[in-house]
Amino acid sequence: MSIADNLRDIHERIRAAAERAGRDPGSVKLVAVSKTQPAEAVAAALEAGQIIFGENYVQEFTDKAHRLPGNIRWHFIGSLQTNKVKYLAGITSLIHSVDRISLAQEINRQWEKSDGVCDILLQVNISGEETKSGTTTSGVIELARQTATLPHLRIRGLMTMPPFFDEPELARPYFRELKRLAGVITAENIPCVSMEELSMGMSGDFEVAIEEGATLVRVGTAIFGERYYR
Ligand SMILES: *Cc1c(COP(=O)(O)O)cnc(C)c1O
Repeated sequence: MSIADNLRDIHERIRAAAERAGRDPGSVKLVAVSKTQPAEAVAAALEAGQIIFGENYVQEFTDKAHRLPGNIRWHFIGSLQTNKVKYLAGITSLIHSVDRISLAQEINRQWEKSDGVCDILLQVNISGEETKSGTTTSGVIELARQTATLPHLRIRGLMTMPPFFDEPELARPYFRELKRLAGVITAENIPCVSMEELSMGMSGDFEVAIEEGATLVRVGTAIFGERYYR
């Protein structure tokens, strides 16, 4: 199967999952996760109509972004060190992984330089696994309040990564909990905070995530094949 075939197959599965849940398939956007994949693979997916790509490693991301066409919408989805934020300004349209106020403040500072506004998601570590990034379930409302006061970023929603399961059904409670948290934050009526985006679901479980309300699914290996970890 080529990258174009894989993309067609995934769009079909997105459509079916959305319809099962009584949702408009157009309300789900596919983020093609291209970490560790060469620029040629991104170019092939772009050629097949894919526009949004997700990257995890700053150096690899900026190298690729500068070699590829400017119409790509790059999302940063990996854990982010504060001192690397400056490299993302100007090329990133959405950062999925904001999990602490110091990181939000640095994004605000970097985007202020060009008088821009950076769209962000707050990442929540629902399982509480120590190896996962993300703010705690109990801390996310406070993080939303603090972050909302920063003029050069805009909170668009939440992101989570459940623990790894072989059985996608087991991830469902984590997706449901993220949706519930988005509702709780919406009810707080914090100025400048919207909860329209839920970034959840990967190659193994994106259909379950869509059934639970995902608007952004982050799919890597099901599009590009296995990754070569560095
Ligand atoms: C790598 C990665 C993905 C994609 O994972 P696949 O299982 O290859 O689809 C999604 N989200 C994040 C945050 C990732 O790091």
